[in-house]
Amino acid sequence: MSSRRRTLVGYKACKRCKLVVREDATQCPNCGSEDFTLKWRGMIVVIDPNKSCIAKRMDISKPGIYAVELEREE
Ligand SMILES: [Zn+2]
Repeated sequence: MSSRRRTLVGYKACKRCKLVVREDATQCPNCGSEDFTLKWRGMIVVIDPNKSCIAKRMDISKPGIYAVELEREE
């Protein structure tokens, strides 16, 4: 079996805060960054950042869908 890649088609991740947004978004609604990547892996849905230790570890302060890992662009 090939390695699992869970990437949503049509979505991209903010390079600064890892928020997953639609591909046609021009600005991150979370941090205001305009720097996105289509190469991201895994996702975490944060509903209540204050109750999620994962969110705290990833420095997430707002609810939303976040990429777990961003791939480095070469
Ligand atoms: Zn962002």
